[in-house]
Amino acid sequence: MVKFGHKKVPFMNCNRCGNIAVFSRKYSGESLCSFCFSNSIVQKTSRIISKNNMIQNGDVVGVAVSGGKDSLSLLHVLKKMSESHNFKMIAITVDEGIPGYRDEALEIVRNFCNKLDVEYRSYAYKDLFDLTLEESLELRESEKISSCSICGILRRRVIDFGAKDLDVDVIATGHNLDDVLQTFIINVLSGDTNKIGWMEPITSNKIRKIKPFCEIYENEIVFYAFTNEIPFQSEQCPHMNEGIRTEIREFLNSLENHHSGIKNSMYGSVMKLSQIVKDTNYKQRRACQKCGNQCTGEVCSVCTMLVNLKQDRS
Ligand code: SF4
Ligand code: ZN
Repeated sequence: MVKFGHKKVPFMNCNRCGNIAVFSRKYSGESLCSFCFSNSIVQKTSRIISKNNMIQNGDVVGVAVSGGKDSLSLLHVLKKMSESHNFKMIAITVDEGIPGYRDEALEIVRNFCNKLDVEYRSYAYKDLFDLTLEESLELRESEKISSCSICGILRRRVIDFGAKDLDVDVIATGHNLDDVLQTFIINVLSGDTNKIGWMEPITSNKIRKIKPFCEIYENEIVFYAFTNEIPFQSEQCPHMNEGIRTEIREFLNSLENHHSGIKNSMYGSVMKLSQIVKDTNYKQRRACQKCGNQCTGEVCSVCTMLVNLKQDRS
């Protein structure tokens, strides 16, 4: 028993080393101390990477880093792995031009990269598209096109540009298991079933893109960042709650609270469905006439949106 004030709180021992446990993994029944918990995240990430053949010998990995807990934790985990594996890393950040929000994140990323001794490059929407996110939002045809869908499309193009500019072999993003499930539900609810075919942990569309945290719960990434004193940005983007994602996140968390492990089984189903949709659509895929990326129409969604925004401006 541990005494807190007048209360006695029962403590548990770490299942791996016997020290005092600080994290309880409900879906597996494991209790872990801080050290063993962090090791378990590094080991799990390493298993996801090798199972999916995400990183190859001698690769230069571009890590897309936003300044949030997921991407900074990914940088931290990959840095640990790079000490015993043959790959190099470079951090890539995107400056969307969101007033009062992005500057703090960029500062955090810069300091953290210096601390880890990882090279760092930043690319801005304004430099590449001559538009900040805020300017793009003013040009959109209808408020029904959410800020995040425009931002996500622009970000994909910036990251592709950065990957080419820096000559990296692969781009790693910090998407966790919760992100994958939320995106699946958003695609279903919006009727965008084709996108379900693009949800695997590794995709190759001109450049290899990988999600090494795709099987790890969001709350575990938060705890990893906390226990490793990773200084992530706590301020949310002002557009964060405009879409439906936050409601879906809360819904999935509530399900998980009552049925631990349900996110893991849903993840398995999402991957199977993604494979089926991908196979079904395989023949329809062709190269975008403008950028060469694979898509199911003549021009990809990124190029279509950029053309529309620029038309509306002129
Ligand atoms: Fe962009 Fe939406 Fe993320 Fe804000 S919350 S940075 S608008 S994708
Ligand atoms: Zn295109």
